[in-house]
Amino acid sequence: MNITNQKIEISLAPDLKIGGENIILMLGPCSVESYAQTHAIARLIHQLGLRVIRGGAFKPRTSPDSFQGLGEEGLKILRKVADEFDLLVVSEALGVEQLPLVAEYVDIIQIGSRNMQHYPLLWAVGELDKPILLKRGFMSTVDEWLAAADHIASRGNQKIILCERGIRTFETSTRNTLDTNSIAHLKINSPFPVMGDPSHATGRTDLVIPAARAALAAGADGLLVEIHPKPEEALSDGVQSLNLEQAKDLVVQTTRLAEAMRRGIA
Ligand code: PEP
Ligand code: MN
Repeated sequence: MNITNQKIEISLAPDLKIGGENIILMLGPCSVESYAQTHAIARLIHQLGLRVIRGGAFKPRTSPDSFQGLGEEGLKILRKVADEFDLLVVSEALGVEQLPLVAEYVDIIQIGSRNMQHYPLLWAVGELDKPILLKRGFMSTVDEWLAAADHIASRGNQKIILCERGIRTFETSTRNTLDTNSIAHLKINSPFPVMGDPSHATGRTDLVIPAARAALAAGADGLLVEIHPKPEEALSDGVQSLNLEQAKDLVVQTTRLAEAMRRGIA
C-alpha cells in the first residue's frame, strides 16, 4: 500500500482546493470542437464564478469512426481560453507517449474510464507533480479502482481525485448506473477527494441535474459535467450535454444544496 490513510486535500491553485469544504464544479464540452465553442463555454464558467474548464482533445471513442478529438490543436484552444478567463484546465491523456504534450497544456490530467487499468500510464502520471483525475473503469470494482490509485501513488504522486462516472449494470434505460454508494463509501474509507460525473453516468441530459444532486448528497467533493452551447450539434456526447441555460440552473441548484450541507461551490 502506497496510499496514506490521512485525508488528502489537493491544492488546484493557490486559492482553490478539492477535498475540503468547497465543492468544485468542472464544466465543459465532451470534446473541444472549435475556438468559438470553447470560448463561449469558458466565458459562462467565468461568469458563474467557477474556476475549472474540462474538455477532451484526445478522445477515447468506442468506435474508431467517431470523432477522435482535435489533438494538440484542442489543447491549445483550451489553454488560450482558460488563460483569458483565469481558469484551470482538465483534459485526458490517452497514452504514455502523449503525456508530455498534455502535461504542457493542462493543470489536471484525466485518466479515462477505459484506461483505469492502463498501468504504464498510471506509473507515468505517478511521476508527475500534477493532480490526476482518475475515472472509474465502467466494469471495475471499488477495490480495483483503489488499486489503480495505488499504482499512481507508488510512483510518488498522491494528488489523486477519484471520479465515479457510472458503471455497467443490467439496466438499459440509462447509459450507465451512477454508483452513489461508492461515493459515500470512498469518502469514508479512502483518503482521496471524490467526484461524480452525472453526464457519463446517465447518458441523458434530462437526468444530469438530478444525478448531480444525488452525487453531492452522497458526499462528492466535485462534479464533472458536460456542457455545450448547442448540444444538438455536438460532435460527441450531445445527448448528455447541458446547454448553457441548463448549466446555469445546475449551478443554482448545486449552490443551494451545498449550502444545506454547509459547503460552498467553486
Ligand atoms: C469524458 O470525460 O469525456 C470521457 C470520455 O469519460 P469516460 O472516460 O468516463 O468515458
Ligand atoms: Mn464525453
